[in-house]
Amino acid sequence: MPGITGLHHVTAIAGDAQENLDFYAGVLGMRLVKRSVNQDVPGTYHLFYADGAGTPGTDLTFFPWPDLPQGRRGNGLAVEVALAVPVGSLEFWRDRLAAHRVASADPVVRFGESTLTFADPHGLGLALTETADDREFAPWAEGPVAPAHQIRGLHGVRLFERALGPTAAFLTGTLGFTKIADEEGWTRLAAAPGGSGRVIDIQEQPGVAAGTWGTGSVHHVAWRVPDDATELTVRSDIQRAGRSPTGVIDRFWFKSVYFKEPGGTLFEVATDGPGFAEDEPLESLGSRLVLPPWLEDDRASIESAHPPLREPASSASSDRFLSTPQR
Ligand code: ZN
Repeated sequence: MPGITGLHHVTAIAGDAQENLDFYAGVLGMRLVKRSVNQDVPGTYHLFYADGAGTPGTDLTFFPWPDLPQGRRGNGLAVEVALAVPVGSLEFWRDRLAAHRVASADPVVRFGESTLTFADPHGLGLALTETADDREFAPWAEGPVAPAHQIRGLHGVRLFERALGPTAAFLTGTLGFTKIADEEGWTRLAAAPGGSGRVIDIQEQPGVAAGTWGTGSVHHVAWRVPDDATELTVRSDIQRAGRSPTGVIDRFWFKSVYFKEPGGTLFEVATDGPGFAEDEPLESLGSRLVLPPWLEDDRASIESAHPPLREPASSASSDRFLSTPQR
């Protein structure tokens, strides 16, 4: 039975848009594949970073909302996004982060995988996880990081929950996930057939308050389905489980359904297609402000509301990166 095949994208809240671009494209070497606006709040940028082709499952997106208070880590919220990197590349990444004045913890092994944790300039918890798992990935030839070391895409997310049971039961009973293992207070589940890009780790934190959205927090976690028909099937299953999903919303590059899992985390189901090359050539993805057709009439006022973004510098010796404030 077709269903969810893994992570589609993760969307988080950033501070300053230029600092966000400098970090994800300039330091982490992800490609800005779409420069757009929040379709519900067009006065806000929506920046999408992915691999060289914007492959589903490689995409980390941001709403830069510089005026928002800092988010609070807590229950019902994803507290970390793990990105996949090739086996043997953590030393390269540790050096690269250090050269850009990004502090990282000593590498640890999680569920058998070497992992380096740090935070982005606005406080989002990140991890780089070494994996040899087979996955869809297109290198970004013009990126500042050599293809051999480039980020392969999303590896997994980590959630805090007040109670593990209801969320785990919903993931396995309704969304088709499988429990993989328990380790150091974390329970790992995975979308079938498991592996990089399909992982969710949950820690039960009964005494911790609910998390709140704000700068540096994950806004929602999107799971991928291959096509519209599968999305409708999954949506019916979610509805039957009492999770009140939205109708199918056309996001132009994919179609989306939103709902909250039992612990409160905002989830989305998104189709693999049509994809980011639907409205601009693959070669020039992300180079101009792209609006969905229904916002084109408002282009002039939308463009004037957004600060222009400079191309990020890509050299480790760039003074601009070294002076990026680490808030
Ligand atoms: Zn989304």
